[in-house]
Amino acid sequence: MDLRPNSDEARDIAYHFHSYTNARVHEQVGPLIMDRGDGVHVFDNHGNKYIEGMSGLWSVAVGFNEQRLIDAATRQMQKLPYYHNFAHRSHGPAIDLAEKLISMAPVPMSKVFFTNSGSEANDTILKMLWYRSNSLGKPEKKKVISRIRGYHGVTIASASMTGLPCNHKSFDLPIDGVLHTTCPHYWREGRDGESEEQFATRCAEDLDAMIQAEGPDTIAAFIAEPVMGAGGVVVPPKTYWEKTQAVLGKYDILLIADEVICGFGRTGKMFGCETYNIKPDIMTMSKQITSSYFPFSAFMMTEEVYAPIADESGRIGVLGHGYTGGAHPVGAAVALENLKIIEERDLVANAAERGAELQAGLRKFVDHPLVGEARGVGLIGALEIVAPEGRADEFAPGKLGAALNAQFLKNGLISRNLGDTLAFCPPLIITAEQISEILSAVDRSLDGFSAEIAG
Ligand code: PMP
Repeated sequence: MDLRPNSDEARDIAYHFHSYTNARVHEQVGPLIMDRGDGVHVFDNHGNKYIEGMSGLWSVAVGFNEQRLIDAATRQMQKLPYYHNFAHRSHGPAIDLAEKLISMAPVPMSKVFFTNSGSEANDTILKMLWYRSNSLGKPEKKKVISRIRGYHGVTIASASMTGLPCNHKSFDLPIDGVLHTTCPHYWREGRDGESEEQFATRCAEDLDAMIQAEGPDTIAAFIAEPVMGAGGVVVPPKTYWEKTQAVLGKYDILLIADEVICGFGRTGKMFGCETYNIKPDIMTMSKQITSSYFPFSAFMMTEEVYAPIADESGRIGVLGHGYTGGAHPVGAAVALENLKIIEERDLVANAAERGAELQAGLRKFVDHPLVGEARGVGLIGALEIVAPEGRADEFAPGKLGAALNAQFLKNGLISRNLGDTLAFCPPLIITAEQISEILSAVDRSLDGFSAEIAG
């Protein structure tokens, strides 16, 4: 690391407080500074080239130098760089994008609300559901059920819905009224002799029991990602979604599909809901909606969700909610162009085809002694790293994952270790050759790492 007093590294340590980083360790090791992007690759400030196997944060669908997005942003900046949607104001990009999203929805949806991040969208959804329950004269129907290891963001309500210890610990979270049910990870949670489908039945029974224990009339909604992302790329067991939706249907509980990662092609269909035949009442979208070239998010809801909210705003006189940057015209213009690219280049089909190659390649690593499970769907996948036989005591949770991730980096591959899970989520524009580039970097890293820890 370059630690001369004026180096970027030294100034980063001096002034920049990082997200999802051990601050004290950062003071010692400093940053990896990215400088430029080209397609699925990024280059650091020393000119080292990496294949971005995570699309940044699961989000850069069209790669790292898409001129059409730059042009769309520039055109909108020149025409109307900012406007809002408070007090009946609107603008072309917001109208076009709302219409476009409704036309793409996997089930009939009525309205789109615009926000700036996935966290903010989910936070807003919970507020809207409280508002809706009050409107319906059911003020006790306010709780939300999410899942252990689910990820829904980091604002106070969203972090509460997230089911990961680091998002709760020392933050005094979760808030009251947010519950977490079983994580549907068969490899980790399945019992001896239990089939995948039996495990799915047990997950649905756990959910049913939680609803019964709390009182069905107190639960407003269930929130879940079609495929869990940041909690460790958890692909639901067979029949999970069918059984889960049957439980929710019994009790008049709304289903919020958090499509922040899965949305716009990631699972090989336009939405994760289509891959798993999910019929959501509300859908959260962000990340790939603008390929993260602009911070942007949205959620859409059915008429049944919308109508009581609209009624309540009518009674109160105004919907007391909205963000200065919500429905930002530049973000909306970038989203429209990005969705056009995804459709014109058929990147959803590419995600399905390249995804099949990625999944087959990852599955081959299960014979490696350090790999416990390979999993995924479409262009989202993961390897679960386990200690060599008889040596589990030597490695604290997450240690192997972090060390292997460092090997990946040396071999020019960016992944993300979620504990001992190594995630892969490359841009949707990836080619077959570039899938091979990822897999061969994994192969070299696993062998190098095995030798390193051979002892
Ligand atoms: N929901 C899901 C499924 C996510 O993956 C994320 C981010 N990883 C969020 C919500 C939160 O999004 P943001 O970081 O934009 O707040």
